[in-house]
Amino acid sequence: MNDLRILVQKFGGTSVATPERRGQVAEKIIAARQEGYSPVVVVSAIGRKGDPYATDTFLGLVRGINPDVPKRELDILMSCGEVISGAVIVSTLMGLGYEAVLLTGAQAGIFTTNTFGDARIVRIKPKNILDNLKAGKIVVVTGFQGVTEDGEVTTLGRGGSDTTASALGVALDAEEIDIYTDVEGIMTADPGIVSDAKILDVVTYNEIFQLAYQGAKVIHPRAVEIAMQKNIPLRVKSTFSDAPGTLITSQLDNQTIEAGTDIKGDRLITGIAHTANVTQLRVSTLNEANVPEIDLKIFKAMALADISVDFITVLPGDVLFTVKDELADKAVKILKNMGFGIETRASCAKISVIGGGMAEVTGVMAQVIEALTLQGIQVLQSADSNNTIWVLVGKEDMVRAVRSLHESFGLGRQS
Ligand code: ADP
Ligand code: MG
Repeated sequence: MNDLRILVQKFGGTSVATPERRGQVAEKIIAARQEGYSPVVVVSAIGRKGDPYATDTFLGLVRGINPDVPKRELDILMSCGEVISGAVIVSTLMGLGYEAVLLTGAQAGIFTTNTFGDARIVRIKPKNILDNLKAGKIVVVTGFQGVTEDGEVTTLGRGGSDTTASALGVALDAEEIDIYTDVEGIMTADPGIVSDAKILDVVTYNEIFQLAYQGAKVIHPRAVEIAMQKNIPLRVKSTFSDAPGTLITSQLDNQTIEAGTDIKGDRLITGIAHTANVTQLRVSTLNEANVPEIDLKIFKAMALADISVDFITVLPGDVLFTVKDELADKAVKILKNMGFGIETRASCAKISVIGGGMAEVTGVMAQVIEALTLQGIQVLQSADSNNTIWVLVGKEDMVRAVRSLHESFGLGRQS
């Protein structure tokens, strides 16, 4: 489609937080340029909650005045953080003598649905980006935002800048999409919980989609899904070091695997992810006449109320599922109004053991249960698929559960 060698480079909030760090960001962009790439840079807003230019800070400001500001207006507000950080990065590059241009989501041709706060990218018109690249400019695009066909500004929800980067990578047929962050790659567990967690060298889209979907916030699952559609390699790496990071690709074949690389076949379990703050609901269907229809009624009622349910187990006489803690009261109210008996258990955590190699191996579930039982951790619910085992535990047991599973499957650096 074009003779440019396009590299998408996405920098997260912590990477652009200080002038020193932005200098390191500029070094990564300039290095890519010197290697012959045309960089398309995607930036997140500067810093985290409490920092002056962070998105959460803007939200706090406006909600402090009026908690009921419409989502449309909030999206215009939330799109400002990336505009600020984009202008700062472009200025940094220009100050170093490089030609650069800043494009907002709309100017970059990123069209989305009109679901404010959680819009989906539906189409990208890359002409403006390409014209600027052809003119020799470094293109900096504001992450996390787009525009509807009607010209309304939208944002993409948490982790949205990752999605912007992947969608641009696909639309521009990039050689690679690099997600720069504050850790040296995707690890076998959240390094904030497991100090012994190890960087993964090469992983498949499927494994990382699961890990991300089940709570590892290092990359957004949608970004993985999008890059996979066109088989564009994704790499997660650090802004602050030269470590190679984690390469995410399709099947791991001999070409992608260098000597000594940890290959998929060697790896039964890839990593452990966790999600906290869910409530388990147990709905009694024992006294109902037509059970299958009743089960369906329960889930239809939840869907109608926009309550997303997870971890569904249908048993004779009982339906178990989880919802986010903050939606539990709403869910219970609806089900009580329908006449059901309900028990709830708030503040649970879902732990996911993910591994592309577990499909044909027996005894993995047994090992999961054994590791938790040895720690005296009660398993409230469990389920499995060909590449994931899920267990629900009390939130107070979450950290111990993640650590003991990580150790039991020998995922650490010491193992
Ligand atoms: P960014 O602002 O660059 O998008 P994020 O905070 O979204 O960064 O993601 C990076 C963070 O993800 C890391 O600092 C780490 O604390 C956390 N994290 C959670 N699970 C994992 C994991 N399995 N591997 C690496 N990092 C993880
Ligand atoms: Mg992120």
